[in-house]
Amino acid sequence: LSSRLTETFRNLRTKGKLSAADVDGTVREIRRALLDADVALEVVKDFASKVRERALGDEVNKALNPAQQVVQIVNEELVSILGGEQRRLQFAKTPPTVIMLAGLQGSGKTTFAGKLAKMLEKDGHTPLLVAADLQRPNAVNQLQVVAERAGAAIFAPEPGNGVGDPVKVSKAGVEYARQKLHDIVIIDTAGRLGVDAELMTQASDIRRATDPDEVLFVIDAMTGQDAVNTARAFQEGVGFTGVVLSKLDGDTRGGAALSVASVTGRPIIFASTGEGLDDVEAFHPDRMASRILDLGDILTLIEQAQQAFDEEEAKKVAEKLAKEQFTLDDFLEQMQQLKKMGSMKKMLGMLPGMGQMKQQLDDFDEREIDRTEAIIRSMTPAERQNTKILNGSRRARIARGSGMTVTDVNQLVNRFEQAAKMMKTVARGGTPNIPGMGAM
Ligand code: GDP
Ligand code: MG
Repeated sequence: LSSRLTETFRNLRTKGKLSAADVDGTVREIRRALLDADVALEVVKDFASKVRERALGDEVNKALNPAQQVVQIVNEELVSILGGEQRRLQFAKTPPTVIMLAGLQGSGKTTFAGKLAKMLEKDGHTPLLVAADLQRPNAVNQLQVVAERAGAAIFAPEPGNGVGDPVKVSKAGVEYARQKLHDIVIIDTAGRLGVDAELMTQASDIRRATDPDEVLFVIDAMTGQDAVNTARAFQEGVGFTGVVLSKLDGDTRGGAALSVASVTGRPIIFASTGEGLDDVEAFHPDRMASRILDLGDILTLIEQAQQAFDEEEAKKVAEKLAKEQFTLDDFLEQMQQLKKMGSMKKMLGMLPGMGQMKQQLDDFDEREIDRTEAIIRSMTPAERQNTKILNGSRRARIARGSGMTVTDVNQLVNRFEQAAKMMKTVARGGTPNIPGMGAM
């Protein structure tokens, strides 16, 4: 997924302004990439049309660098579908908080029950695990093992005491927690290999009987196009307040995450990333968006572009200086490069670790560059090659042509001559610099 998208963005990045055709092409690629990542078709369609609408809208046309703006739009829309802000568990005002887990068999409920218990214990809670999966012979035993590893208490049916009725066990578990002062109850329920009515009814009955503060729908991140159907079935049959994405450690980009979050509108709260009880983390929508889009790759692209720019330009400047040929044309070219970099400001602001560079970019004023540009453009080629020929009448003509005053023209010429001198000094020291940064 990432390499194809990266390619798309690379193509975009080399363009100045975007046409409708450019946007369509890009959106088509994004669509294909998301489908590759197993995001459900209906979600992809919806997403693509949103991005297209925004990309063709005003915000991009006015942007200095539309390509980066599109990247930003895609990222924003992804984060928004994934729930925007990180969502935390909701606790009951009066303990115990009841958390019920639901999902298909093998989705990772029992494992997650142990992970959650361990996590909560670290925060000073006293969770109780309730074994309400009485379907598979070994399920209670599996939860017992998990509870032991997590160091958590467990409530399991004793022989002759409600065996076979998960609803009764769940209710009794909550009552037990109240008596023994466990502040959180985690109910592990049964799952089926596929969605079926009996399972839904049972889970729904458990929900009604225990009135949970959270019902967490656990879904295997590797679930492909089926994720949407499964999520919908559980939403209709049981209802849930949040999602746990399991097996994110696998070879998946998280298409299921995007589909489930988009279709159900329920936030993903946790991500499970392995079989060990510590392999769990709070879900961060922005990180998931990066994973789906691989913003890391895009960051690398920008860095490479900047490096190429720096090295190439520095070399050219050094050569010119060696021949003492640095002219206003070169100055103008550098201005334009700086302006291009300026448009990266927004993009850089989004990326981690780029704060310092952003500060540098904030330090120069784009309008100032525009004025400088206007003045240089009003000069003849000969004048740009050699500022010494700029007498009073030439300066007056340039001022008129650029809509500036003669004082503005004088100031620019002075600044340029100073910058050229400064650069010569720097060049002799071996590290030529981009002029204009300081002189502006
Ligand atoms: P349940 O049927 O929903 O209770 O699912 P289980 O908790 O029994 O998990 C089913 C299988 O998936 C087990 O072999 C777990 O070890 C494994 N599993 C659960 N969560 C994860 C995870 O986050 N990553 C990986 N790699 N395996 C997991
Ligand atoms: Mg289980």
